[in-house]
Parts: sequence; structure tokens; C-alpha cells
Amino acid sequence: MEPLNFKFSSTNVEYYFDVSFQQLNKLVDKKKTIVLTDDNVYEAHKEKFKDWELIVIKPGEENKIQSTVDEVIGLMIEMEADRTTTLLGVGGGVITDLTGYIASIFMRGISFGFVPTTLLGMVDASVGGKNGVDVGVYKNMVGVIRQPKFLFYDYSFLNTLPEWVWSDGFAEIIKHACIKDAVAFNQLENEDIDSIRMKSSVLFGLIQRNVLLKTQIVQQDEFEKGDRKLLNFGHTLGHAIETQYALTHGQAVAIGMSYALSLSEQLVGFQESTKVREVIQQYNLPVNGNFDMKKVLEILKMDKKRVDKNMNFILLEKIGKGEIKSIPLIQLNKMVQKIKIID
Ligand code: NAD
Repeated sequence: MEPLNFKFSSTNVEYYFDVSFQQLNKLVDKKKTIVLTDDNVYEAHKEKFKDWELIVIKPGEENKIQSTVDEVIGLMIEMEADRTTTLLGVGGGVITDLTGYIASIFMRGISFGFVPTTLLGMVDASVGGKNGVDVGVYKNMVGVIRQPKFLFYDYSFLNTLPEWVWSDGFAEIIKHACIKDAVAFNQLENEDIDSIRMKSSVLFGLIQRNVLLKTQIVQQDEFEKGDRKLLNFGHTLGHAIETQYALTHGQAVAIGMSYALSLSEQLVGFQESTKVREVIQQYNLPVNGNFDMKKVLEILKMDKKRVDKNMNFILLEKIGKGEIKSIPLIQLNKMVQKIKIID
């Protein structure tokens, strides 16, 4: 069980690919570890959790909120956790975001590790150290950037993933391909969810490729002063519609990307929107929806990428090359309201 090691500003993170949950006891002391997971993951993988100290919370984005943080911290106190305790998040992005945040504030910071169990969790949410919670309709409004000690990829978790959760992961994979990886985009064009799922070597290869791509971006710009912003492609508008319209994260990002494609056409002459929208739909994701754009733009105003009256918006120059453009909010509002997407 040899990890790949990646250096971030304050720590080293160990990545274990294609390992088995049973091997975790070589990495952490079970007696000093608390596992945080949700009902669905627990029910589907009960046998894996035998002998572990466990906190099981309700699933879903609606529980990625401060009151869940308070509840978990209360339970950790009852379990007599101390500064040497490791918090282990076993779940999708909701669980890993909560775990990283709770571990960062409990006793001013304890060690934590992730076992991502969704495709989205594996390729995106567990990587890069952004952790936090939503506040009302505002996504990820409160949080930290702090790296886990390790990422532990046991692909057998994917065997129990519901159909709808698969598409969500592909939204982030398509995003990575659009901003940085034209070769992966070609591969995505030639495949679909079923064909990739049928070939485990292709699936595992794609996961690892995406993990490494995101890791490289984060290593170069951990605190999002530059290129890390590219990872927000599709997320500005996506975040503004996600909680308000009860979309999954992947659906919201897919629609957000589709709008960003239109803006890319208008602002930087991008010419391949149809091709990208076709790929988004090929992975069972939406490119449009019915929104009250006035309300959406109200929420968008509070996006973390706004600086004064301008938004750092991510556009595509070509497939595989994203770019960051500062757009005045007034102009962005006008342009977004005029976008008509025909799917
Ligand atoms: P999720 O964690 O809600 O999981 C989706 C559903 O799948 C849930 O119902 C969950 O209980 C269930 N599930 C998870 N693993 C399972 C398994 N192996 N078998 C059966 N059911 C399983 O959603 P997600 O799509 O994994 O993550 C979305 C979240 O990730 C959002 O909150 C988003 O903001 C966050 N995110 C964070 C980052 C980051 O950098 N921190 C990046 C992207 C997304």
C-alpha cells in the first residue's frame, strides 16, 4: 500500500489509489478515529464499518449546514474525542466537505482523512482542501482551506452508487476537460456513462487523471489567487441555482457551464458550444432550466468570486483552455438575462 505524496503549502497529502477499506487500519489507529458518514453509505456498506467508532448523519445537501456541524461536534465531545483524534469522512462531497470543516475547527484543528464514495467525491470534492457548509441559499458560504492527511480510494464504494449520482460526477469531469484537458474531452465524446462503467480500467484511469489534474492546479495556487479559479467553470451560476431550485450539484454545474458557454461565445469568440452541450447531455445532464433570473442574479451577487462590482467569471477560449475574465456585474446581469439556450 504505497501512497503518492503531494506537497501543499502547510502539509503533505498521501493519495492511496485502488485500495480496500479493510486496509485503513494500517493507516489510522481505530481507537483514535471517528468515522463520519451518512445513512445511505452506512446502509449500503454496513459490513465495512464494523468495529469503527461511528457518527452517521442524514444524507443530502440540505444537511451541509452549521446545525449539522454543531450536532457532530456535540457527539464528538460525548465520545471524548481529543486533539489526537482523526476524523475520517466516508461519503460523497457533502460528507467530505463537512468532515474537513469540522476537523478544522474542533479543538482548533485535528487531523482528518477522506474515503470518497461518489464519483464526484473522488474526482473533485475530496481534492484540494476546500471544506465548508452552506448558509441558506448561499452555497459554501462558510468554510476553510485545509488539506486532509490522506485520500483513500476504494472503488468498491461505486458499486452501490445510485444512477443519478453517476451523472453528477461526470459534470465535474467534463468541467476539468473543458478548462484544461482537450484529450480527455475527446475521450468523453467517444464514450458515455454506461460504456465507461463497463470498463473498470477506463473508469479508474479517468478518476486518477482527474484527481491529478485538480491536484496540480491546487498545488500551484492553493489559495485561489489565480489558476485555481478556473475550477469554478460553471459554478458561479451553478451555485446560484443549486439550492434555490433543489438541483443536484452536478445538474447545477452542467446548466452553469451551458450559460458560461454562451458568455464565452459573446466575450471571447468561443466556437464550440454545441459540441460541449452535446457532451453534457450525453452524460444525462441538463443544459437549461426554467429560472427566475432576477432571483438567481440576486444570489449570484454574493458569489465568492465577486470583487466589488466585478465578477471573476470563467470562460472558455477553446476546449481545454479556460480563462478568467473580470466582468462588471451590470454587464453580466444584462448578458445572462438575454441568453436563450436551445437544447
Ligand atoms: P452527496 O455527498 O450528497 O452524495 C450523493 C448521494 O449519494 C447522497 O444521497 C449519498 O448519501 C449517496 N451516496 C454516497 N456514496 C454512496 C455510495 N457509495 N453508495 C450509495 N449511496 C451513496 O453528493 P456528491 O455529489 O458526492 O457531492 C456534492 C457536494 O460536493 C456538494 O455539496 C458540493 O458543493 C460539494 N463539492 C465540493 C468540492 C470541494 O472542492 N470541496 C468540489 C465539488 C463539489
